[in-house]
Amino acid sequence: MSIESRFQPLLAQREQDYLTRSRPLVTSPQTPAMQINGCQVINFSSNDYLGLANHPALKQAAANTEHSSYGSGAAHLVTGHHLEHHLLEDELADWLGAERVLLFSTGYMANLAVLQTLTQKGDVIIGDKLNHASLIDGALHSDADFKRYPHLDMQALEQRLQKAQTQKQQAIITSDSIFSMDGDLAPLDQIQTLANQYHAWLYIDDAHGIGVLGKQGKGALSHFDLTLQPDTILMGTLGKAFGCSGAFVAGSSTVIESLINFARPYIYTTAMSPVNAHVCRAALEVVKKAESERQQLQQNIQQFKQGAKEIGLTLHPSNSAIQAILLGESETALAWSKGLKQQGIWATAIRPPTVPNNTARLRITLSAAHTSQQVEQLLQALKNC
Ligand SMILES: *Cc1c(COP(=O)(O)O)cnc(C)c1O
Repeated sequence: MSIESRFQPLLAQREQDYLTRSRPLVTSPQTPAMQINGCQVINFSSNDYLGLANHPALKQAAANTEHSSYGSGAAHLVTGHHLEHHLLEDELADWLGAERVLLFSTGYMANLAVLQTLTQKGDVIIGDKLNHASLIDGALHSDADFKRYPHLDMQALEQRLQKAQTQKQQAIITSDSIFSMDGDLAPLDQIQTLANQYHAWLYIDDAHGIGVLGKQGKGALSHFDLTLQPDTILMGTLGKAFGCSGAFVAGSSTVIESLINFARPYIYTTAMSPVNAHVCRAALEVVKKAESERQQLQQNIQQFKQGAKEIGLTLHPSNSAIQAILLGESETALAWSKGLKQQGIWATAIRPPTVPNNTARLRITLSAAHTSQQVEQLLQALKNC
């Protein structure tokens, strides 16, 4: 069979189901006002929560390459581990009160690495049903059993933990902090309590919380007044609120040494650009002091939620920058997205298989960089739909 004859029917089916994926082409900096596919639009789809992607401090840091080069040249274990990476790890660890931090080139790889490396045959990974695809892939690629509990259902989680205890399986609970497609927040305080009660390990994916939630933007743990315990591991991304790219895992020395020694997605890949690490260090300094940006973001979220309620839209319950307008059919979600585009608003339709069937939605993400007038424009355009 040729590649053509295998894939043409699959692609045709996708088209028929309104599920074809494409890549909007960006020809401007990453800001609220952007040029996408040649059109000038206000962007409500990025995860640039604090408006750092185009921040002058980051641009200035990117230009400062005196002590490093753009390419890292090799993997971390060879000759790719630059002082800039090392300092970024130390600074992140200090900020979070973690014993150690380890950098990854992407959050996706960090999730694969942690779930594959820390678990063995006979263990069980217990995850929320709506966890990010990378947590699911990490679990599926591990040697552990993989069980999922209904979204945010703490009773079901406890039953799973009891079962693991009876079967003498080491359990590792894994959850998004803020869920990427729904915007709601996992009750990490309850999850941590359950983890302690059943001697389970806990792995939290704070991709959407880091920089945004908690004191100094320290993320979801800080939001719940929790600290990193020896059997708790945190993942944060540097491509969302930090406005750069990459990710990190924070945990005990034993966790980090184990990843350095055994994690294939860490070992067999070129280190991120040292320039990117340097820019992330500048971003961290901005994030720590970004109280007014975090306040502005909260204000924009409240303005959107209030306005959406007045129009009568069905929002998924969320207090975060991720606001989902539930529409059901993929076709409807696409039609709304198109209707907004015609009014100069960019908001992505999220369809299966990214979300469950019949829960297609518009995913609106707000940023501190949006002005109140831009949020108002979004609401007006939604009203017209
Ligand atoms: C974006 C995201 C990731 C992946 O991070 P990348 O750095 O983009 O690979 C992982 N988990 C969640 C919840 C995310 O939203």
